[in-house]
Amino acid sequence: MSSEERTNLAAIVEGNRKIRLEHRDIPTLGTNDVLISISSVGICGSDLKYWAYGKCGRFSLNGKSMVIGHEAAGVVTSVGSGVKHLKIGDRVTIEPGVPCKSCEICQGGRYNLCKKMRFCATPPVDGNLCNYYVHDADFCYKIPDNITTEEAAMLEPLSVAVYACERANIGLGQSIVIFGAGPIGILCGLVAKNSGASNICIVDIDEGRLAFAKSLGAANKTYFATLEASKDPSKVADDILEILGSDLGAHSSLECSGADSSLATGIHVTRPGGSVILVGRGSLSPSIPIVLAATKEVDIKGVFRYANNYPQSISLVSSGAIDVSKLITHRFTLQESEKAFEVAADSRQRAIKVMINC
Ligand SMILES: [Zn+2]
Ligand SMILES: [Zn+2]
Repeated sequence: MSSEERTNLAAIVEGNRKIRLEHRDIPTLGTNDVLISISSVGICGSDLKYWAYGKCGRFSLNGKSMVIGHEAAGVVTSVGSGVKHLKIGDRVTIEPGVPCKSCEICQGGRYNLCKKMRFCATPPVDGNLCNYYVHDADFCYKIPDNITTEEAAMLEPLSVAVYACERANIGLGQSIVIFGAGPIGILCGLVAKNSGASNICIVDIDEGRLAFAKSLGAANKTYFATLEASKDPSKVADDILEILGSDLGAHSSLECSGADSSLATGIHVTRPGGSVILVGRGSLSPSIPIVLAATKEVDIKGVFRYANNYPQSISLVSSGAIDVSKLITHRFTLQESEKAFEVAADSRQRAIKVMINC
């Protein structure tokens, strides 16, 4: 097909709960880039925030519009002259953040913290919920034949979970508490189990989500939290530890809910010398028992996306160790993007992962 025959439909958000579908030019290719015909894009919590409010955490659209989407996979259709490891026809998963590669932080390996990071669908950078998208080839990974493009799109949230479990130093026989049974909490449970954790309790305020998480094998124990009970984190922690069956507390707890009370409960529920991993995003300055954390030497560790985790995620899915396809509860086409976002945002639809196939 000549480029004139190809169209590049893109899904654009403006922060008013609408998706505008607009034909854009097919982007031009740099020396180290590949042009990708996008196949599958998952909708993430951050995408929903830009769609609904025009902002997410410290990032804002500031009244501008943006192509949404960052959990994507597709097929390489053009290759820059400097690209050696990919060729036309390769199916790839896209790691959506491209750092500067040359600063001290990047050179040290923690490139996710690079100050010059350009990340898909984080203002002002456009995302990849569109037909054609150009990306730095260094951040595109060829996927094996036994991984579908839908599963390849799921490697983005899976990489968040792999990195979170890496930060937690999860090891053999450990007890873990996970707050939040959404896609990230479920994936954290699956990765924790694969890292050797033998006792995993997942906590949520939605019994349906807890049952789903358990049915996927993300946890062997569940704790149904009521909003009322969350007013006293130490009391909730006692109840969780009873279910966990550990007097000492969890080796680590992973906060994946974004609820400030869960962060506080996580400090109580974690054993001395353990760690609390902050994956979710609650309020900017939550009130937490920080002195308790200090006297228990509970490390509170942040998680910002991931670094160097895509190869691990590909291997976990390709080997069959983790089945990410089970998290996909709804599917739409690119033309149906607005409906897809509405369903993802509506708790009555009980969506875990909404997937858009372009
Ligand atoms: Zn995401
Ligand atoms: Zn850098």
